[in-house]
Amino acid sequence: MPHAALEKHLHGKTALVTGAGRGIGRAIARRFAVGGANVVITSRTADQLNETKRLIEQGGGGGRVLAVTADVSVRDEVDGVVGEAVELFGGVDILVNNAGVAPVATIEDMEPEMFDHLLSTNIRAVYLCTRAVWAIMVERDGGVVVNIASLAAFDPFPGLGAYGAAKAFVVAYTKSLAKEGAESGIRVYAIAPGAVETPMLRGAFPEFPREKALHPDEIAALVETVVSPVFRHSSGQVVKIMHNG
Ligand code: NAP
Repeated sequence: MPHAALEKHLHGKTALVTGAGRGIGRAIARRFAVGGANVVITSRTADQLNETKRLIEQGGGGGRVLAVTADVSVRDEVDGVVGEAVELFGGVDILVNNAGVAPVATIEDMEPEMFDHLLSTNIRAVYLCTRAVWAIMVERDGGVVVNIASLAAFDPFPGLGAYGAAKAFVVAYTKSLAKEGAESGIRVYAIAPGAVETPMLRGAFPEFPREKALHPDEIAALVETVVSPVFRHSSGQVVKIMHNG
């Protein structure tokens, strides 16, 4: 594969990144925009989303940005975001299902409302967003979906049981969707990070040593790589990324 094709692979593409108001989602959206993609960013908190938009516009790269406040666990709101993306950019080529929540609670402390909220954000939203872009990708003869899972899918700490199980759903769903999308040229991946220095990590584990957490930009770089033609024959892969310390 010629180097130039790899460098320019995001040019003219439209990427929808959920949970882009802070943390990993913000880093992914910024990286896509620097690479020349148009980015559609969404999260529930308008001021955080607007800050991501501002950072993208200030960062250059040539891509345009559309910020839409939405709860991605609500069907009408997801359809609204995708509708606005289609109206402005003509479609969606890349979806990153990044929005997530990580309440830490053992079985004794996990309230049913907390459990339902965890599942609706970490599972239902992945389904809703993927469903909303799938037909568009089929019509365009291809697309890429990247699901942000977690190492907790494989080895959850006590208190991360429901979170880890939800991310295990994401891993299995990724593999199945990759098979479903193959004929239409849709590639589907999961990224399974260990600890990443974000508000989520600080909220869940305030004492976690900073030197043992990855930077969100490292996850963004990996996401860009799996979206690129480098990974074109590797649909269905679950890529783990962690600190070795
Ligand atoms: P974060 O700092 O808490 O950011 C999460 C983003 O998701 C925020 O912008 C949040 O904005 C948005 N979000 C949450 N619920 C939403 C909803 N219902 N609708 C729309 N947006 C929503 O978390 P992060 O650490 O960047 O995590 C990003 C992803 O990486 C998550 O899927 C997480 O499980 C995964 N992950 C994180 C780590 C880590 O150590 N940080 C490790 C492994 C995997 P609003 O609250 O304003 O909506």
